[in-house]
Amino acid sequence: MVNKSAHNALLDWYTTDGRHELPWRKTNDIYHIYISEIMLQQTQVNRVRDEYYPKFLARFPSIKTLAEAELDEVFVLWSGLGYYSRARNLHKTAQLALNGLPCEKKELLKLPGIGEYTASAICSFGYRQNIPVVDTNIARVLKRYFGLLEVQDKTLWEYAASFVNAADARAHNLALMDLGSLVCLPKNPQCEMCPLRLECKGKGEPELYTQKKKKEYERLELFYALYIKDGKIALRTSQEKLYKGMLVLPNTEPIEENFIAAFKHSYTKYRLTVNLYHVDKITDEFVWVELKELENAPISSLTKKAAVFIEKKGEIYGF
Ligand code: SF4
Repeated sequence: MVNKSAHNALLDWYTTDGRHELPWRKTNDIYHIYISEIMLQQTQVNRVRDEYYPKFLARFPSIKTLAEAELDEVFVLWSGLGYYSRARNLHKTAQLALNGLPCEKKELLKLPGIGEYTASAICSFGYRQNIPVVDTNIARVLKRYFGLLEVQDKTLWEYAASFVNAADARAHNLALMDLGSLVCLPKNPQCEMCPLRLECKGKGEPELYTQKKKKEYERLELFYALYIKDGKIALRTSQEKLYKGMLVLPNTEPIEENFIAAFKHSYTKYRLTVNLYHVDKITDEFVWVELKELENAPISSLTKKAAVFIEKKGEIYGF
């Protein structure tokens, strides 16, 4: 049974210490809140707030403008954020929800790229419904607060539901999120400053509840062609899972005498070794992109890295 004083202490703490200044917390626009939630997955708050969120909304201020845009343009604005499937799903969702995002969680879950967390966040932060939200930060707080070891996600959501404060579920969820981000840190949580410290079961040994799942990486070796002519580079649209829909370098056979360089690149779960080869012919389909326009093209971070290489070393190879 939740102690009412914990609810009050949490909301009081949020009033004084919460991150109210975040732009997506100052708006009631559901589309803007949705964009922020998608961007914030896997990306630091500061980068989203200062760079990507304002830039994206300046170009696509409404769901209609996003739906009507070319996917390539969405990719360009997404460039650097990684996880490009998010951009692809945003675009698809905008086209499916032209008249606005639904307010029912089960309907939101039917849209591409909207999972349990995002649907709940939209309903709680946007539509202000009385439902729980669990992200990584909230999960950590809940595990410690309730003393939950090796808990399944489903159970965690049940605990979150039992804890949600019907008096102001939105502020309660945001408070838990901020508490996890600012106080109940993975390492060295600041328990003495925590509004939940009186009832918290985990405060004696908080690290016990921070289980780290071992990350599993997929290692790939790639062989890419640099085909450059008259200030233009040949690129192809990726049909593979990796960078699907984006412009990437064409594949090539690894021919020893054409080898230029190799570099490492990390992208989501992939750990890539990229080998670049100089070629003077490509048989697969490709498009020419002006080298000086590369920055504005929907290219992957890997292709960007290769572009830096071309800029630095291109003269040596006569590019
Ligand atoms: S008392 Fe400590 S461990 Fe418990 S919720 Fe607060 S910061 Fe986390």
